[in-house]
Amino acid sequence: MAADEFELIERYFNRQLSDPDVVLGIGDDAAVLRVAGDLAVAVDTLVADVHFPLAMPAAAVGHRALAVNLSDMAAMGAVPRWCTLALTLPEADETWLAGFTQGLFDLAAAFQVSLVGGDLTRGPLTVSLQLLGSLSATGPLTRGGAQPGDALYVTGTLGDAAGGLALFRDVAAPGAEQPLLERFLWPQPRVAAGMALNGLARACIDVSDGLLADLGHVCAASGCRGIIEMERLPLSQDLVARHGTDRARQLALAGGDDYELLFSAAPEHAAAELSVRLGVPVTRVGRLQPGAGTAVTLDGVPVAAGRGGYSHFSKE
Ligand code: ADP
Ligand code: MG
Repeated sequence: MAADEFELIERYFNRQLSDPDVVLGIGDDAAVLRVAGDLAVAVDTLVADVHFPLAMPAAAVGHRALAVNLSDMAAMGAVPRWCTLALTLPEADETWLAGFTQGLFDLAAAFQVSLVGGDLTRGPLTVSLQLLGSLSATGPLTRGGAQPGDALYVTGTLGDAAGGLALFRDVAAPGAEQPLLERFLWPQPRVAAGMALNGLARACIDVSDGLLADLGHVCAASGCRGIIEMERLPLSQDLVARHGTDRARQLALAGGDDYELLFSAAPEHAAAELSVRLGVPVTRVGRLQPGAGTAVTLDGVPVAAGRGGYSHFSKE
């Protein structure tokens, strides 16, 4: 970075921290944290034009860099605590930096996460954020604990972010689809729900790549076969209104970036009971069987699978 690298760090990244467990924050050669117990550690890199559109507002990029890692903490049932940020910028664009840090620090404040260090370099726009979280005595939640006979549940609604991304790319889209766009631009990780799943869920994963892809990871780790009952998929009214039911279901199965939680639990749990315990809408979307892989049914009839989604629905 330019000679004013330290000035930029001071101006945009070095904020007053209130966490007594941060022994040393930004300013020395490394941060020092006081920990008791197990830590969950996750890192995610966002490359411009690969993981987010270049035209995405800077604040939404800052929000996203933290949100995707918060979602990983949620999936582990961890309490997010501290993050570090490696930022690569083509130039010291202060308007962009101001927006980026606003989006980042607003979300960090909402979850009481402290930025304790990082790195600033010049190059193609790339944001790499690492997040550390504390695990409860009953944690962590993993992908590997599911059992045949478990029911599969998801939080919130699915497919909205993919529906929103399609709108973001379509400059001619009218404004009525604002909720879908918001869902794409400002993902809300299910951190409290993840913490509430400790001791309740047998397996958990966040839905970042699409329901089927992420269910596949749970099935591989747990040694089970996952069945999604398509008619149960939780679809928002906005998504169905904009894309129609068939396309909405395809987006819910194969679209990414929703950052909801997919978990398995004993089938006795009613979705309504889980919604109350988690503080978010919960829908039962399927079940686990002995075997391997994933399958989709519609009203009990198997639907043929295609790569990256279901050929039955492909309109692209
Ligand atoms: P070093 O040369 O030892 O790696 P740097 O000059 O990269 O140190 O960084 C100086 C201090 O500023 C360090 O404490 C580092 O953690 C912090 N820092 C650098 N870039 C960022 C950033 N983007 N966000 C937060 N802290 C940063
Ligand atoms: Mg450095």
